[in-house]
Amino acid sequence: MEAGSLRRPGRVAVIGVGVIGACVGRHLSRHGAEVIFIDAGRPGEGVTNWSFSWANASNKTARKSYFDLNVAGMAAHRELARAIGPDSWWYPHGHLRWADDPAAEAKLLETAGLLAGWGYRAEVHTGAEVRRRLEPALTVPGEAPVVFYPDEAWVHGRHLVGRLVGRAVASGAELRSGIAVRDIGTGADGSVRTLALSDGSRLDVSTVVNATGPDASRIAALIGRNLPMRREPGVVTRLGCAQVPVHRAMHAPHIEIRPDGDGSVVLHSRETDALIDTGEEPAELARLLRQAARRVVPELGNARIAQTRVAFRPIPGDGFPSVGAVPSAPGYYEAVSHSGITLGPVIGRLLASEILSGERDEMLADFRPERFPR
Ligand SMILES: Cc1cc2nc3c(=O)[nH]c(=O)nc-3n(C[C@H](O)[C@H](O)[C@H](O)COP(=O)(O)OP(=O)(O)OC[C@H]3O[C@@H](n4cnc5c(N)ncnc54)[C@H](O)[C@@H]3O)c2cc1C
Repeated sequence: MEAGSLRRPGRVAVIGVGVIGACVGRHLSRHGAEVIFIDAGRPGEGVTNWSFSWANASNKTARKSYFDLNVAGMAAHRELARAIGPDSWWYPHGHLRWADDPAAEAKLLETAGLLAGWGYRAEVHTGAEVRRRLEPALTVPGEAPVVFYPDEAWVHGRHLVGRLVGRAVASGAELRSGIAVRDIGTGADGSVRTLALSDGSRLDVSTVVNATGPDASRIAALIGRNLPMRREPGVVTRLGCAQVPVHRAMHAPHIEIRPDGDGSVVLHSRETDALIDTGEEPAELARLLRQAARRVVPELGNARIAQTRVAFRPIPGDGFPSVGAVPSAPGYYEAVSHSGITLGPVIGRLLASEILSGERDEMLADFRPERFPR
């Protein structure tokens, strides 16, 4: 962003301080904008804290422009780690994936081939090599092909949010947590003017960023906008273990496992998610996750179930991000996306640049809010 090309967006309220709001606000504040972060709860404790949190593009092959955006997201993380330091949030140790049936195995090798053709690093190892070189605690069969994506990572979302907001506040941004936005006041031309907050106060603003994740359609409705969102809950469990037996994120058959920093491991599985709406208790879902994890990493069978939460993926109706200005509501911007852990830093950079310069980046062309009519 060239300093000479910047406009003044006035006072910007970033509504929602998960990974996406934190990234947008940090970029705005670095470029001198007046930023107020507002969160109904505590920064980083929304879905950002209940995510598998795998920074990747290997799972994003459905549309090339979406894959490219995710690749840019991974690069933006590396850049961010250089700028603010990687400690306690950035774990770039790659990702492992293998299967236990021939059809799924053929599919994952085909995907690895496609990705390699797109210039994305993908290596195929045997299970024996993986146990010897990378993950000694796994039960993966010795001859099984295991795809290793060396450029992928996992991210401690809550720590990253804390770091970004802390920096923004140190350079003049304001943080109001435990306060919800209840209403948005607009002028005759539809432009945003004021926010009504749950503590009874009003705030004059020129710009708002809707970064409220799973609650984004409620905030959009305050300006009369219909932002359709899918309903896709997921259950995540944290196990406490004296010694963490895995070193990186992995998709094993029937279970996803990753470390989570000090003495804990995170588990998730799409198969378990499918049971959420059957009325199964979260505690039982957690036991099922631990059972599946034990087949892959026997040591996890004795680990204590520390926390379990059902969280909702923030997915706009067609499955893709909604990022950018809404021309019918001047001053209102959306930053709503699944894969927000991967995409947060790149969405933060692109949206802040759009707010500050008025220019729309081509990389967001397929992900504009206008595709959902008002
Ligand atoms: C099970 C599961 C697995 C996932 N796995 C991955 C993965 O491996 N990789 C990946 O990239 N992504 C993954 N995701 C998606 C990713 O976690 C999300 O896209 C990302 O965390 C969204 O961040 P956010 O900042 O938009 O939302 P959030 O972190 O939810 O932040 C939104 C904030 O808005 C606040 N808020 C809401 N309403 C209001 C209001 N009215 N006023 C003020 N504040 C408000 C909330 O308190 C919250 O703090 C996963 C999600 C789930 C559920």
